[in-house]
Amino acid sequence: MVVILGHIDHGKTTLLDFIRKSRVADKESGGITQHIGAYEIEQRPSTGSSTEAHSKSSGQAKKITFIDTPGHEAFSQIRSRGAKVADIAILVVDATEGPKAQTKEALAHIKKTGIPVIVAINKMDKPGADPEKTKRELAKEEILAESMGGQVPMVELSAKTGKGVSDLLELILLLAEMENLKADLLKPAEGVVIESFRDSKRGVVATLLLEEGQLATGQIIGTCSTWGKIKIMENFQGKVIKEALPSQPVVVLGFEDAPGVGERFKVFDNLEKAQADLKKEKAIGPEVFNVREDQKVLNLVLKADVRGSLEVLEEILRCLPQEKVILRILKSELGEVIESDIKLASQAKAKILAFRVKVNPVAESLAEREKIKIMHFEIIYDLVEGVRKYMEKQVAPEIIRKDLAKLKVLVVFLTEKNRQIVGGKIIEGEVKKGQVGIEVFRKDELLGSGRMINLQKNKKDVERATKGEEAGILYEGSTRVEQGDILVFYTQERIKIEL
Ligand code: GDP
Repeated sequence: MVVILGHIDHGKTTLLDFIRKSRVADKESGGITQHIGAYEIEQRPSTGSSTEAHSKSSGQAKKITFIDTPGHEAFSQIRSRGAKVADIAILVVDATEGPKAQTKEALAHIKKTGIPVIVAINKMDKPGADPEKTKRELAKEEILAESMGGQVPMVELSAKTGKGVSDLLELILLLAEMENLKADLLKPAEGVVIESFRDSKRGVVATLLLEEGQLATGQIIGTCSTWGKIKIMENFQGKVIKEALPSQPVVVLGFEDAPGVGERFKVFDNLEKAQADLKKEKAIGPEVFNVREDQKVLNLVLKADVRGSLEVLEEILRCLPQEKVILRILKSELGEVIESDIKLASQAKAKILAFRVKVNPVAESLAEREKIKIMHFEIIYDLVEGVRKYMEKQVAPEIIRKDLAKLKVLVVFLTEKNRQIVGGKIIEGEVKKGQVGIEVFRKDELLGSGRMINLQKNKKDVERATKGEEAGILYEGSTRVEQGDILVFYTQERIKIEL
C-alpha cells in the first residue's frame, strides 16, 4: 500500500491520476472508475535490464494499491488516529522548486512512522527543472539520494507526460521486495477505514484497506465506534466480490453507523463479541473501571468551541491505543475554560485541553497558582498528536546499551580542564563517530565515564577505527585518563515504546 505525499502543487494529484488512467484496466467497470479513496494497479517487476526480450521474461505482474484520499484533511485524520496505513511513501518534489514546507512536514511524518520512502522528482518536462539542486536541498533535510552515497531511491519523472512513471512503479516493487513486505493470510482480517459515509439507498458505505488476513461477505466486523455484518463487498471498480486479500481496497456495506476515517477494523467470530469489544472501548468516561498495575491513566478535561468538534475529538481520543495508557475524559464541555475546570483538573491531576476556546481570566490566574497545564489547540490533528505525545511520555523509553569497542591507552595529553587527547590501540570491536559514551577502566575497575568528541587516525578526522588500528580520540569527562587504562566505547539507544 502506497501513499503519495508532498507539498501542495508539486503534482501529487497529477501523478495519481496518470497512474490510474494509464494502469487501471477499466474493462470490468464498463469504463467508469468510481472514486473510493484507493485504487489498485498491476505492474510487472523489472529484471534489471531494459531490453524488450528481457522485460518480456520478467516475473509475474504484482499489485500495488495507491491510497488516493481526497485532500490533506482526510489523510491527516487517518494519521490522527495513528494508523500507519501505507507500507511505502512516495514523496513528490517539484524539480523547479525543490523541497518546501509541506515536503518537510511529510518527511517528519515519514520518519516518525518509519516507512520506507521513494522521492519522485517531478515536473522534469519543465524548462526550469533542476534535479541535482533538488537533491542537494533534500540532502540538507537528511534525505540523501543513492547517487550521493545515501540510501533513498529517487526517480526523475514527469507526472504530466508520464516519462519516468514506469521506473517509479518498478522501484516500488523492488522496495517492497527488499523490505520483505508480506501479509499473513491466515491471521484474522484487520485493517483501516479510509472513507465512510451514509448513502440514502445503500446505507453505510465504507472503504476499507485490508492489512492482514482475508475478508469475506457475511463476516462480522467492528471498529472502536461501530460494528456490522458485511452484506456486500465490492472492489475499487464497483464489482461485487466475495473475498478480499491483503492490501486490496474494498467497499463494504453493512456497518450500523459510519465508522470514523482512520479507525482500525477487526473481524469477530460473532456479533456478541463485536459488541462486547465496542462496549469495552466506549467505556472511557468518568465511571470507574479496571486499571491493571502496569497501566497508567491520563485524566483529561476537554473544552471545545462547537458540539461537532467535541464529538469528533471524543471519538478520536477514544480510538487511540490504550493498552499502556488509559485516557479518562473527566469532563467534556462546550465553552471557554473556567474556574471549575481548573479545580477539577487540580483535584484529579488532569490535563486541560482547550480546543479553539480561551481561558477566562479568573481561571487563568487560578491555573497559574495551581500549576495546571492548559494545552491550546486549533487543529484536531495537533490535539490528538499532543495527547498521543503526552501518553508516550508516560511510558518510559527502553534504553539499550551497545558496546562498540575497547581501546588500550598508550599516550595522553591534557588540553582543557575536562578534555584530553588520548592515543591508543583498539583491542576489540570498532569505534564509530557519533554519540559515543566512554567508560574508563583501570586495573579492571570502573573509575568513571565521559564521552567521545572526535575520532582521528594519523591526525586526520575519520568516521571509524577498527580492531588492531591505532586511533586518537578527543575525550571529555571528569575522570582523568592515564596511560595503560582501558576505554570502553558504547552507544545508548532510546527505543520508544509503542502505545
Ligand atoms: P498537488 O497539489 O500536489 O496534487 O498538485 P497537482 O497534481 O494538482 O499539480 C499542480 C499543478 O502542477 C497542476 O497545474 C499540474 O498540471 C501541474 N503539474 C503536475 N505535474 C506536472 C509535471 O510533471 N509537469 C508539468 N509541466 N506540470 C505538472
